[in-house]
Amino acid sequence: MSAPLINLIPSCEDDYDLHSLSCEDALTRLLAAVNPVTASERLALRQALGRVLAAPVTAQFPVPAHTNSAMDGYALAHRDVPAEGVAELRVVGSSFAGKPYEGVLGAGEAVRIMTGAVMPEGSDLVVMQEQVIAEGERISIDARHKRGQHVRAAGEDLKPGAEALPAGRLLTPADLGLVASLGYGELSVLRRPRVAFFSTGDELRSLGESLGRGDIYDSNRYTLYGMLVRLGVEVIDLGVVRDDPAALKAAFASAADMADVIITSGGVSVGEADYTKDVLGELGEVRFWKVAMKPGRPLAFGRVGQAAFFGLPGNPVSVMVTFYQFVQPALEKMMGTSPRPRWNLPARTTATLKKRPGRVEFQRGHAARDAHGQWQVTPTGDQGSGILSSMSQANCFIVLGMDTGKVEAGSEVEVQLFEWLM
Ligand code: AMP
Ligand code: MG
Repeated sequence: MSAPLINLIPSCEDDYDLHSLSCEDALTRLLAAVNPVTASERLALRQALGRVLAAPVTAQFPVPAHTNSAMDGYALAHRDVPAEGVAELRVVGSSFAGKPYEGVLGAGEAVRIMTGAVMPEGSDLVVMQEQVIAEGERISIDARHKRGQHVRAAGEDLKPGAEALPAGRLLTPADLGLVASLGYGELSVLRRPRVAFFSTGDELRSLGESLGRGDIYDSNRYTLYGMLVRLGVEVIDLGVVRDDPAALKAAFASAADMADVIITSGGVSVGEADYTKDVLGELGEVRFWKVAMKPGRPLAFGRVGQAAFFGLPGNPVSVMVTFYQFVQPALEKMMGTSPRPRWNLPARTTATLKKRPGRVEFQRGHAARDAHGQWQVTPTGDQGSGILSSMSQANCFIVLGMDTGKVEAGSEVEVQLFEWLM
């Protein structure tokens, strides 16, 4: 039996239903409540891209395996480098990558060598081809050459047994290459968390259905799908569920049966939370939080059956903001890796920003460098939480702190680039 993916939340936190929770507190609580998956599987190297290593990868032989040349030139022994003036050496053979020189260098001898080729026995430095005068079988070199120059020592990258990659590593293209260079064709990676998600709302129609008066197409399931797939979890799309207690209860129960994590959108705002609360009260343990942020103030979190539950607000921008600020780091922890660092940078705002103190705002902006190389950011117009085009146009959040009020054009603000998100 592996450890449960979610810990029960102490009930003393009930208080937080009544008060606003800061973003930091909300994140700390979420991260404390979820646990990494422990089950692993073996995958062919290519399939392991974007997956999380279950065990460290260690070198089974030195890397590089042989002492080799870092340059095209001539391999020779330091005793043949003149103390001053010029010395003449005889070229006795060649060492190419994959075709080493098999002999041993004698006094006054050099071997033509290419980058990556094995250093011949008896040689201990390489002279770049640009620094010799070659005439037929003979080369002339001067006095400036040091022992070991342009030589890559066997094991200088990794000694046998050394850790090349730690457990918990989210595998990158560079890692695949590194693992291949160590001779491994398979890796042990953690199982991906299974994430089931659905949208709630009587007004929601799926693509292909026609829209009645007041209906809208369900867009949240698409943004959620995109964010989850990019993150590298297994996704289960459970469609749209009506605002009906029996239907909601059935959807939650089946989601909890098949998934480690359930994500919903809608149904957690003040007007709707009551019956969601009733349904969830029977199936698990869920808190309804008011986070001091905009967009994304209402948020539900807890356990449904054995699954971790994130109840995101319904507004399309709120879904994306709360996913990136809370759900992504929690899922990264569940995947068995560390939450990705967020690269916030200072930028000058080109426009005045409306803001009320008392909550953190994640306004959408487009950041770029100006003609002097300084970062500046321009808000993407209307900041309503239903305006999804603002997320499409933006490449960053403008993060305005709790105490910040209106920000004048030209002031410095903090931006959080989407790079790590999308
Ligand atoms: P709710 O949180 O359910 O009160 O929804 C808040 C707003 O978000 C309402 O305008 C909903 O119509 C809208 N909304 C909720 N779910 C979705 C969805 N899946 N796709 C697009 N808009 C949604
Ligand atoms: Mg709704």
